[in-house]
Amino acid sequence: MQMYLESDVDAHALVGERIAVLGYGSQGRAHALNLRDSGFDVVVGLRSGGKTWARAEHDGFAVCSPAEATPGAGLVAFLVPDMAQARLYADIEAHLRQGSTLLFAHGFNIHYGRIDPRADLDVVLIAPKGPGDLVRRQYEAGRGVPCLLAVSQDATGNAQDRALGYAHHIGGTRGGVLTTTFAEETETDLFGEQAVLCGGATELIVRGFETLVEAGYQPEVAYFECMHEMKLIVDLLHEGGLKKMHEFVSETAKFGDLTRGPRIIDDHVKASMRTVLKEVQDGTFAREWIEENESGLNGYKRLLKEDLDNPIETVGRELRGRMSWLQQ
Ligand code: NAD
Ligand code: MG
Repeated sequence: MQMYLESDVDAHALVGERIAVLGYGSQGRAHALNLRDSGFDVVVGLRSGGKTWARAEHDGFAVCSPAEATPGAGLVAFLVPDMAQARLYADIEAHLRQGSTLLFAHGFNIHYGRIDPRADLDVVLIAPKGPGDLVRRQYEAGRGVPCLLAVSQDATGNAQDRALGYAHHIGGTRGGVLTTTFAEETETDLFGEQAVLCGGATELIVRGFETLVEAGYQPEVAYFECMHEMKLIVDLLHEGGLKKMHEFVSETAKFGDLTRGPRIIDDHVKASMRTVLKEVQDGTFAREWIEENESGLNGYKRLLKEDLDNPIETVGRELRGRMSWLQQ
């Protein structure tokens, strides 16, 4: 594995070029603001009537349609939702300058073949390991969120330097830029959010809450144990790994962790994780998600409603309403 820092950046890469940022959501806004503060001429490309158009104008950007933003740009950043990218690429392909760079923040569309970029383009990935507002706040504080870098097409011979230049100017080299591939970034990102972060963590919380409530304990007490206190543990893990968590919890909690934890997340769970990973690797998940989008998202909306109808949400809303510091 290779990690690049500020001293590794080619001082000339990208400098003086116009950058088109397509999409002005979580990542788009942060990248556009950081690049502008780094001295770049940034143009924002958006659908007319989209919600973020006014926000980009308010932030002082020239905003136009993606097809208008693209021709003058040496680098075009695809920061619209993953499911909108294939359509957007089809709309702008004819407008992309010969030898320009296509940049993604997640590899989904390239890895699963939804976008097949023209052969004269450099195609790169810069994936910040954090949400957009963190990318912006760290940059403003003189720090930076670490990024992953990958190159899937190097038409000019400069793709890697250009990608590293981009990462540098959004603050990434301050945190370190690690090299990966589109395949590795896409598959690990999807697996992580499904098995551990979004899917795994929320199921663990909700099943724990249900177990206590079904055994007759008060929902409010169950909420504090299973949802509220999760943050304390996650903060310790984030700051100092398992070691820091062990330092801060009681001896009793540690003994319970070491002897009971493996009985909850057991070999059966690990086997299910392997199955979920396989579905990511062989494209089953990607196909299912694309079909769901194409057929109107009805199954997705039903599942989302079921998730939000869980009693833990009602109890949680009431309790969080009394913790005024959470509203800030
Ligand atoms: P977002 O949903 O926050 O913002 C999307 C932007 O695209 C908005 O400005 C929206 O108006 C615009 N848009 C939506 N549909 C469009 C369409 N059909 N055509 C043109 N514009 C459209 O998106 P995001 O979360 O910033 O994600 C952008 C990319 O960054 C994705 O590839 C995502 O996987 C990746 N990424 C996101 C995060 C994150 O923390 N959110 C982290 C790393 C990578
Ligand atoms: Mg869930």
